[in-house]
Amino acid sequence: MVKRTLRRWRKPPPMLVFMLAVMLPAAALIIASASYVRHIQRGKMVEAAIQLDYQHILKIAEKRIVERAYETSEKASTSFPDVDHSEELDTFLTTHPEIAHAFLWTGKGDLDFRSQPGRMTDPDFQAEHKELSSELRDVFDMWSEDHIAMVKKNEVMEGRHVYITSEPVARGSKMQYESFVYFLPRGSTHEHPALAGFVYDEDYLKNSFFPQALNEVLPDQKGNDPSHPPPSITIRKEKEQTPLAASVCWNGGAPEVERGFDSVFPHLILGIRPYGTTIAEISNHWTHLAFGGLGALSLLMGGGMILAYRNVSRELALARLKSDFVSNVSHELRTPLSLIRLYAETLELGRISSPGKHQEYYEIIRKESERLTSLINNILDFSRIEAGKKEYSFRETDMADLVRSTLDSYRFEIEQNGFQFEQKIDNDLPQLRVDREAIARSLLNLVNNAVKYSATEKYLGVHLYRRNGGVNIEVVDHGIGIPLKEQLKIFEKFYRVGDPLVHNTKGSGLGLSLVRHIVLAHGGVVAVESAPGRGSRFIITLPVQNSEVQQVSA
Ligand code: ADP
Repeated sequence: MVKRTLRRWRKPPPMLVFMLAVMLPAAALIIASASYVRHIQRGKMVEAAIQLDYQHILKIAEKRIVERAYETSEKASTSFPDVDHSEELDTFLTTHPEIAHAFLWTGKGDLDFRSQPGRMTDPDFQAEHKELSSELRDVFDMWSEDHIAMVKKNEVMEGRHVYITSEPVARGSKMQYESFVYFLPRGSTHEHPALAGFVYDEDYLKNSFFPQALNEVLPDQKGNDPSHPPPSITIRKEKEQTPLAASVCWNGGAPEVERGFDSVFPHLILGIRPYGTTIAEISNHWTHLAFGGLGALSLLMGGGMILAYRNVSRELALARLKSDFVSNVSHELRTPLSLIRLYAETLELGRISSPGKHQEYYEIIRKESERLTSLINNILDFSRIEAGKKEYSFRETDMADLVRSTLDSYRFEIEQNGFQFEQKIDNDLPQLRVDREAIARSLLNLVNNAVKYSATEKYLGVHLYRRNGGVNIEVVDHGIGIPLKEQLKIFEKFYRVGDPLVHNTKGSGLGLSLVRHIVLAHGGVVAVESAPGRGSRFIITLPVQNSEVQQVSA
């Protein structure tokens, strides 16, 4: 015969499934994100991205500033006198105080060059006037065609009526950066070409034009967000570090990204840097934020894992306890039922003749059915409590009478089992408002446990007394005892101590959880003092105060 071994698929433990399905992917995701952030940090990718962004902003800024220069100049050119009215140049200059010089060339040797009349008292300005007028006369006489062609080309290519360029001009001992605007004046014809223009000096560019233009490009946007500081833009001359002009949002420091003007303002450099910080600091801040976020995520995940772990293991333990409970209860039900059946059948067959035996059998049947009843009562009570349907009927009760009568029906049986039984009930106990049946059941559960878990030394003591505003019911045995770490757990539903001595004893793990529920419902507490091998003392404390208050309000 060939023996075959069938390999069965074993279901992996739920905890392992949980770890593999949730924890591993989450941890992998966090590790992958962390290494990606590290990669970004090492490759200085944040810096590169910001620099690229800044390049883009500078390009746009340049375009807008140039645009504004054209708009301003074209607007001014519209009120420029025509070729036959060069005498109106002074009026033109008075209405445009921002313009330093204006000129009109109408043919070889015919250049009218005027400067701001109000500023002619300044000797440096006067000298500049002289120098420029003679220079331009020579230039136009020789190169007027080139200039006219340049203006026309700009008109065709860019759709601009003016042509602007800038260059340094000496004023006194200093070099000034001045912008020259050229255009064809009204009245200029193909046969009699004319050239007109005006000059913006550095004072105007520095104090008025550039600040306004920069403010338009970057309105004041100082903010406090360190991960998104607003950029600040400066304009400087190629050979100077001190800026000519800066946006409102600028508080010193060298620009981190620069770009030269292509046209209109040659030799001027646009620079940009973040306000109040540096690109490297932004990158560091971003990296810290990213790592911080990942750290927080890991902590959250860790916390979640611990919570989930505790929940899952609690559920698993409960499931285990429930399955133990089912087998324990079935066992507990089967034993008394088989005994009852066996003795009832024996009696039915009439084989027993001695009246003493009859009596003994009847007693066994009675005791076993009482055991069944108490077990079933416990289960029913438990299911009512679980469903939230357990109701108590509190009545004025003489506690001494309650304890005495509950124990009386068991005294004989306890003593028959070889127990030394001590009952001590103090005098002058107050009446309490309790559910008589529920308190009796709690006491019976404690007494039953004391009897069940006393293997060698058979002692049972019940003591009823008043202490610190409460009435205590104390049940003492000298049995197997309970280890300290189990003493809180024994009040949980289905819980049974994992001691072999306990497992050899029948039980459902419901008794103490019922006792605790009943006592709490009475506003009391239940406590245990115990040591393995030395016995246990269970103490139910029922409050007198509550009962007295209830008595008054009832
Ligand atoms: P059970 O039906 O198992 O007795 P209980 O809820 O009444 O259920 O008790 C829970 C557990 O507490 C018991 O399984 C036992 O391990 C422990 N226990 C309760 N009373 C005693 C006692 N008097 N002595 C020792 N162990 C006890």
